[in-house]
Amino acid sequence: MGPNLPSDATIFRSKLPDIEIPDHLPLHAYCFQHLAAHRDRPCLIDSATGTTLTYADVDLLSRRAAAGLHSLGLRPGGVLMLLLPNCQAFALAFLAASRLGAIVTTANPFHTPAEVAKQAAASAARVVLTECCHVPKVADLNIPIICVDGPLPDGCIPFSDVLSADEAAAPEVEIDPDAVVALPYSSGTTGLPKGVMLTHRGLVTSVAQQVDGDNPNLYFHEEDVILCVLPLFHIYSLNSVLLCGLRVGAALLIMRKFDVAVLMELVERYKVTIAPFVPPIVVEMVKSPAVDRYDLSSIRTVMSGAAPMGKELQDKLMAKIPNAKLGQGYGMTEAGPVLSMCLAFAKEPFDVKSGSCGTVVRNAELKILDPETGLSLPRNQPGEICIRGKQIMKGYLNNPEATERTIDKEGWLHTGDIGYVDDDEEIFIVDRLKELIKYKGFQVAPAELEAMLIAHPNIADSAVVSMKDDLCGELPVAFVVRSGGSEITEDEIKRYISKQVVFYKRIHKVFFVEAIPKAASGKILRKDLRAKLAAGCPLP
Ligand code: AMP
Repeated sequence: MGPNLPSDATIFRSKLPDIEIPDHLPLHAYCFQHLAAHRDRPCLIDSATGTTLTYADVDLLSRRAAAGLHSLGLRPGGVLMLLLPNCQAFALAFLAASRLGAIVTTANPFHTPAEVAKQAAASAARVVLTECCHVPKVADLNIPIICVDGPLPDGCIPFSDVLSADEAAAPEVEIDPDAVVALPYSSGTTGLPKGVMLTHRGLVTSVAQQVDGDNPNLYFHEEDVILCVLPLFHIYSLNSVLLCGLRVGAALLIMRKFDVAVLMELVERYKVTIAPFVPPIVVEMVKSPAVDRYDLSSIRTVMSGAAPMGKELQDKLMAKIPNAKLGQGYGMTEAGPVLSMCLAFAKEPFDVKSGSCGTVVRNAELKILDPETGLSLPRNQPGEICIRGKQIMKGYLNNPEATERTIDKEGWLHTGDIGYVDDDEEIFIVDRLKELIKYKGFQVAPAELEAMLIAHPNIADSAVVSMKDDLCGELPVAFVVRSGGSEITEDEIKRYISKQVVFYKRIHKVFFVEAIPKAASGKILRKDLRAKLAAGCPLP
């Protein structure tokens, strides 16, 4: 999003020293590097049944799963689609794919059949692991379908079979650290969702930046019980919860779906110590009358990310769990995903200002660019946040143009977020340059909805932008130009879209307009539309 940087740019770094990172290891080997130290400790706890797998169990079962997936044709570089809610099988299959040198593409199980088919085709998925209820979404793919539950639809393979393969049959694969291991989808700064290629080296670096070494790993250690309620198909949870938890040998308490009362009951029962959240979960918690009925005092760290968390909400949460420390992190799928983290958790903690997203992670560099001139800006001046380091993505799958637009020749990833770094190295995000809309932390790509709208015969043109919302953060709303003579209504448009998309991409309001404001280049002037909405005057 801007020209290359001059070499005299201001570069921001972590307040903590860089560390040695064993980034030559494949991801699973890195996560289990200290396995001997915690073999018998609980690793994956299914919160619904209490079934607990130890680290030794997870090691063995992931080897068996590797053998089972190999026998189903999964090879190095082959893609396994995980279409699953949070569950033990998710983690086992992910580790198994890593062992095979294969790639996992994660998909939201609530996605519609069309959305799943698009991702499966784009990623060239060779095997899918899912639940029986989602089988109709993948039945046409003509690839092996493995189910984690029953009763099994015709032709599907039970995951228990995959887990009973002989671990000795799993091939020893030599894995290139720069091979891709995870392929989440993200629209990035512009356009449609794209496959984000995260390598073994990238993810090892990112996890190490968060939990290795002497310092900020006070926020995760072996005795911790980490709540895993955020969806593992999103890289925030996959990396900063699951992989970081495995690396330190902590117990992961896996919740299949979010329910505020169940969550608090589990915190009390399992004495959860680490609670990774997104702001909408915190909103529900603080307003729930149940919050005072449970003992939440075991929580010592609340992490929040994926969307901004205001001071008022932070204060309300801390009033409920006064012993905990709260820290915001800032991530972006393409950045691996963590750009910055809160050092209130460091061994020698730093004071952290409200609203700050922490400081840039270790072993990385951050710059702020003037979006107009492309020049680097000094402290306290907002501009586009750019990051460089081994943790960032390798690029977008089969999309060199989008990759070049996002990672410049000097290796800087341009986030499309506007923020500044203050005198204490703390990062504050103030705006977003890019098109992305975030509904409760979930990505909505305007281009995807606009393409659907324009495909409707009664719609001549459209633009989708975000509207602020207290609970959801942002809501997608559409500006629509009707085709000549058409009388299509707001409800018809909303229904037309909601039939095609997962719930969080639904359009919440339609404004009919004469024309969509555009720059001479044809680019939609989204900022103008957002400004009009904010001013309560939607009609251009
Ligand atoms: P995703 O790739 O889905 O993780 O979305 C990344 C985007 O979420 C970032 O580029 C930001 O726009 C936004 N985001 C993530 N964390 C924060 C945060 N702590 N505060 C504000 N926005 C955030």
